[in-house]
Amino acid sequence: MSLPDKSDRQAYKPGQTVPATGIYAVVHDLHRPEHEVVAIRGEEFPPCRICRDEVRFYVANQVPHMMHDFDLAGPGNRALKRRARAANKGTE
Ligand SMILES: [Zn+2]
Repeated sequence: MSLPDKSDRQAYKPGQTVPATGIYAVVHDLHRPEHEVVAIRGEEFPPCRICRDEVRFYVANQVPHMMHDFDLAGPGNRALKRRARAANKGTE
């Protein structure tokens, strides 16, 4: 599971803030093959329960969150945005 361009990609460590919503490739320290997860901008990359801080996250595919999309959460959709904020509050 070694990609030739791996060193060129920005690696994120546990504890760092997710810079952009999207699909991230998760690379563990040998105990598990690379896999993908969704991370939301502003969240914190978590440590792995097995390899702890050795786990690394790489952007695989940036996908904007629906409420971060201009056409879906832009100035014309204030009411919806308020509702989204309220929903966010419940999960934090
Ligand atoms: Zn791990």
